[in-house]
Amino acid sequence: MEDLSFLIEKLEKEIENLEVTPELEEVGEVIRVGDGAAWISGLKNTFVSEILFIEEKNILLLALNLEEGLVGAVALNDFDKIKQSDLVKRTKKIIQVPVGEELIGRVIDPLGRPLDDLPPIKANSYLPLERKAPNVFEREPVNTPLHTGIKIIDALIPIGRGQRELILGDRQTGKTSIALDVILNQKNDTYRTPICIYVAIGQKMSKIRRMYEILKKEGALDYTIIVATTPEDPPILLYLAPYAGCSIGEYFRDKGRDALVIYDDLTKHAWSWREISLLLKRPVGREAYPGDIFYTHSRLLERAAKLKNGGSLTALPICETQLGDVSAYIPTNLISITDGQIYLSNDLFKANFRPAINIGLSVSRVGSKAQTKIMKKVAGKLKLDLAQYRELEEFAKLSAELPEDIAKKLKRGKILMEILKQENLRPLTFEKIAILIYAANNGFFDDFEIEKIKEIEIKLLEYFELEKKEVLTEIINQKDLTDEVEAKLKEALIYFFENYKK
Ligand code: ATP
Ligand code: MG
Repeated sequence: MEDLSFLIEKLEKEIENLEVTPELEEVGEVIRVGDGAAWISGLKNTFVSEILFIEEKNILLLALNLEEGLVGAVALNDFDKIKQSDLVKRTKKIIQVPVGEELIGRVIDPLGRPLDDLPPIKANSYLPLERKAPNVFEREPVNTPLHTGIKIIDALIPIGRGQRELILGDRQTGKTSIALDVILNQKNDTYRTPICIYVAIGQKMSKIRRMYEILKKEGALDYTIIVATTPEDPPILLYLAPYAGCSIGEYFRDKGRDALVIYDDLTKHAWSWREISLLLKRPVGREAYPGDIFYTHSRLLERAAKLKNGGSLTALPICETQLGDVSAYIPTNLISITDGQIYLSNDLFKANFRPAINIGLSVSRVGSKAQTKIMKKVAGKLKLDLAQYRELEEFAKLSAELPEDIAKKLKRGKILMEILKQENLRPLTFEKIAILIYAANNGFFDDFEIEKIKEIEIKLLEYFELEKKEVLTEIINQKDLTDEVEAKLKEALIYFFENYKK
């Protein structure tokens, strides 16, 4: 008997290690429902972000809360049809979105279902909505501009590819218009065109449709994808939308291409997460937001990056403020996560200074490293003149009679402000912006009435387009205000202004 004991021991061990994997489907049961959330028992191995399925009713759910013996999930469709004791199956699949070229020009929801009248997306690749941000070894510093075509931004608050720049402002101050102009401008820019992804978070379908029509008319659908959710969608879709848009952009970024993603807006995104968290009875913190609201936005925005493989993902999150209050919870969070902010002011908008960017309150912390040399040079002078103008403006209010040199400086400031005004849907290429600012800096507009400036601006740009194309080309090639470029530019400007006065 003694000699067999080792054998028994061995067998016992083998039995112990034997993996028994019966192909049993895991099925759970809804034990409680409420407003789109369901609590399911019996699903032991479910993981966070797993898709669950009520086969009988064709309802998909997303597992979000994993508690002892209970899974909290929210419905992705038809939430009002879920009833107690419905059977729920695991799919063992994490939530994903189709990605790739097939999406370009399309309007889809965060799960890749088409919202345009075109056939379903036949994508070859899928990516999870939640992905890790690139690590420091994969990244490189921002070094290529992302030209927005908006004078104030490209000159004074420049954005680089891979940057995260927040656009914030009250309702109806031109936030979406800026985003749209940035997309439109990519078509004409010297640098390669990024794939643009516009993520509409709880936006009215009529607004989304209008944007789609403009993109189509302007030929921007060739490189744009719209991920859309409306106020009628369940909050979970609004919550998922930016992550889906981000994954779609990352597909291009990881292939060494450029992508730009706009989240319009993260205020509504925060609301949707608050609503879901309340449904799932998660503990609440400041302003009734769940404790992880900061992390919700930071892990999204960290995925924007400039990579060593040559690819980039630039993020332009939008945030709505109430009465210009940037110290509220969500705006402060977003300001601290991003690399700068473009602050739109209601007062400026009403005073017809549009785009209503408050230059003093707006910053870009990394973009100037990517700015072209010519823009850097003209913007340097512009900044000084504007700062002086603001000081003198205060001073001028106090005294009636102004010394001549001060009056001159004030006039120059007014001209610069007039030049910086720009209608929406009229983005300008960087060489044209540089020419306008150079001309204003060097006093070419000084002798004209303020009311005349806009008219002259249009004529001046026409003149370069029609008669001085070589100067534009030279600036595009050199991207610098070399002596040679400056001489040619000056000559052209002198000729134009002498003839204009006549
Ligand atoms: P909401 O809070 O509703 O999302 P918003 O801040 O996104 O608004 P927009 O929808 O972009 O603002 O713009 C509001 C209005 O202002 C629009 O009618 C738009 O045409 C106009 N507008 C925006 N920018 C300019 C501009 N630079 N020049 C003239 N009009 C502009
Ligand atoms: Mg808007």
